[in-house]
Amino acid sequence: MPDSTEIAIVGAGIGGLVTALALHKSGYTPVLHESAAQLGELGVGINLLPHAVRVLTNLGLQDRLLEAGIATSELLYFNKHGQKIWREPRGLEAGYDWPQISIHRGKLHGILLDEVRQRLGSDAVLTGHHLRSLDLEGARTSLDFTIRGDAEKVSVCKADLVIGADGIHSTVRAHFYPDEGPPIWNGAILWRGICQSECFLSGRSMFMAGHANQKFVCYPVSGEHFRQGGSLTNWVAELRFDPDKPFRREDWNRKSDPSTFLPDFRNWIFDWLDIPALVKATPEIWEYPMVDREPVPQWSFGPVTLLGDAGHPMYPIGSNGASQAILDAEALVNALDAHNSIDDALRAYETERREPTAAIVRSNRGQGPEQVMQLVEERAPGGFDDLDQVISNDELEAIAARYKRLAGFDRESLNRRASP
Ligand SMILES: Cc1cc2nc3c(=O)[nH]c(=O)nc-3n(C[C@H](O)[C@H](O)[C@H](O)COP(=O)(O)OP(=O)(O)OC[C@H]3O[C@@H](n4cnc5c(N)ncnc54)[C@H](O)[C@@H]3O)c2cc1C
Repeated sequence: MPDSTEIAIVGAGIGGLVTALALHKSGYTPVLHESAAQLGELGVGINLLPHAVRVLTNLGLQDRLLEAGIATSELLYFNKHGQKIWREPRGLEAGYDWPQISIHRGKLHGILLDEVRQRLGSDAVLTGHHLRSLDLEGARTSLDFTIRGDAEKVSVCKADLVIGADGIHSTVRAHFYPDEGPPIWNGAILWRGICQSECFLSGRSMFMAGHANQKFVCYPVSGEHFRQGGSLTNWVAELRFDPDKPFRREDWNRKSDPSTFLPDFRNWIFDWLDIPALVKATPEIWEYPMVDREPVPQWSFGPVTLLGDAGHPMYPIGSNGASQAILDAEALVNALDAHNSIDDALRAYETERREPTAAIVRSNRGQGPEQVMQLVEERAPGGFDDLDQVISNDELEAIAARYKRLAGFDRESLNRRASP
């Protein structure tokens, strides 16, 4: 595609910002339109798997990410009694050429935003621009924005290519799927927080404990705290309820109270970590329902396409939400570089990304790699003396390997991929 192609990205979240950086590296000058009037450091912890870190490394970001986050060295699964079911090395320790990075989502977002403004110019991100509608009539797509804080004020822009990176409540997606309705809730609620704590396990470990109906996920997100002998610890407590009950619309900024879930975890005091104490030491707690959407049969309509959560909102299982948005960005820009028409490029992008991400959405509904905890709960709810009697190592290894292949980060094929 010629460099002069006018590209509008709707949404300056993780996917939109990485797409802008990749487009800029290929010579394009996209403009980002972001609904939020101000972009603060929102969210809690997020994980970047080696295949996504590979993309970010090629964009020259690895050093900044490692400075702000931490290179995760291992992933462990435990039962609800704190007994170990599975351990696997992660990132460099697992032989990948790129680390797995755990990081505060707000810090990641802040780094990407700063890089976009430095490289593309301070006016590359138009904040307070909430997309209301789009019109595909004519050669160029017309985008209609409400300016935040001034409901009467409207801004219209035209573009040759529109990338809908506007997240789980995507207006771009709703334009093509007007009857889709709200995201689908599976009955689970997540409570999330970050607090300072002592190091646990290796100090760079991510662990999950429990089973499908009650789970605790925990990992450090700061290398600086680790180097000083402590931990800035991100945690997620999960409980399952009746999915037929109404739930409150998902919002990453809804505050909550530990009394709503902590009683269910009161006995989760393991000899290697006291979970109730960790929750009590957390200054702010947020609540989020576990939601996704049914995969759609088409992402691209003329010169408009979807990317990241707008295309494939998935349960936050297997550390894939941000990573898959980053892989989308790379695939889309590679396709634009390789083709002379927008139609051909979007077809190639969609062929590469739509089905594989739909498979991850479906696998995450079946608990993804975390299903091993549920298997152990069903077979040994009271705990075990000998794990081999409950589940074999072969079975554990097969489940872990299958998910890595599905999500595109099995070590051999990833390390073989040439960098551009
Ligand atoms: C504030 C916030 C906090 C989050 N915190 C976490 C977290 O702690 N842990 C975690 O795992 N995931 C978190 N997520 C989700 C995570 O960022 C995404 O699942 C993943 O990174 C995929 O990125 P994305 O760019 O597709 O979507 P997002 O990162 O959700 O970005 C979408 C962007 O589009 C903007 N937008 C939405 N509608 C419009 C519109 N009509 N017009 C213009 N712009 C629009 C949104 O404001 C947002 O900036 C958070 C998302 C947000 C928005």
